Amino acid sequence: LITVQDINHSFLIGRKGKESNVPVLKNISFSVKQGEIVSIVGRSGSGKSTLLHILAGFLKPDSGEIVVKDTVTSVFNEQQSAQFRLENYGFIFQNFQLMPGLTAFENVELPLKLKGMNRHQRKDKVQQLMKHVGLQSVQDHYPNELSGGQQQRVSIARALITDPPIIFADEPTGSLDSETEQEVLELIQTLNDTRDITFVIITHDDEVAQRADRMYRMHDGILTEEGVPNAV
Ligand code: ATP
Ligand code: MG
Repeated sequence: LITVQDINHSFLIGRKGKESNVPVLKNISFSVKQGEIVSIVGRSGSGKSTLLHILAGFLKPDSGEIVVKDTVTSVFNEQQSAQFRLENYGFIFQNFQLMPGLTAFENVELPLKLKGMNRHQRKDKVQQLMKHVGLQSVQDHYPNELSGGQQQRVSIARALITDPPIIFADEPTGSLDSETEQEVLELIQTLNDTRDITFVIITHDDEVAQRADRMYRMHDGILTEEGVPNAV
């Protein structure tokens, strides 16, 4: 479903005139099959979020190729990336990235609006999902009126609302208590089992990582596959 070939990426850091180029991703190649749950683990700063942003087209790699469903996505311009993302991906950001001027409900509703769904259908769909992720009572709160865990759930709901075939999740359970984390993990498993949704999940959590079909480890910008003891 997703094939990544020889991705390299560097960031230019430091003051103007004194910049240095810091390589963050080094020759990354891997692939994800339809219906797989793949986890990526690794130390803080190793390049995990950068890789996920590149996969979803938020960031362009310096070199290398990404192919999704026979489409070369790494050559897309910003507008093409945004359109492809709307149709194919849900993205759960590590720092949530909610729109501060929109309520929880409106944040979750936004992708449907962008897709052109009518108001009535949107309302029903959002209401149902808000209930499912336990956000009904805070749906009219603005992001700064939500706890970290609630913001994370809004971010999760926004990623799921369009029923995308692929979900990229950057530490999706990082701000949740263990009970809510279990619920989110079950939701992921159910979506994978019943709708064949493919997941790429970055996590610090061993339990989350071990539940995946396959696991990769990022170490200083180099990605290697590791065995998953629980996999069948
Ligand atoms: P964490 O587990 O803490 O979230 P990570 O593996 O997701 O870490 P990244 O966020 O991908 O790490 O960052 C990888 C490296 O790239 C870090 O050294 C970071 O300082 C650097 N970096 C990330 N984004 C930028 C940016 N926009 N400009 C410059 N450097 C960046
Ligand atoms: Mg990160």
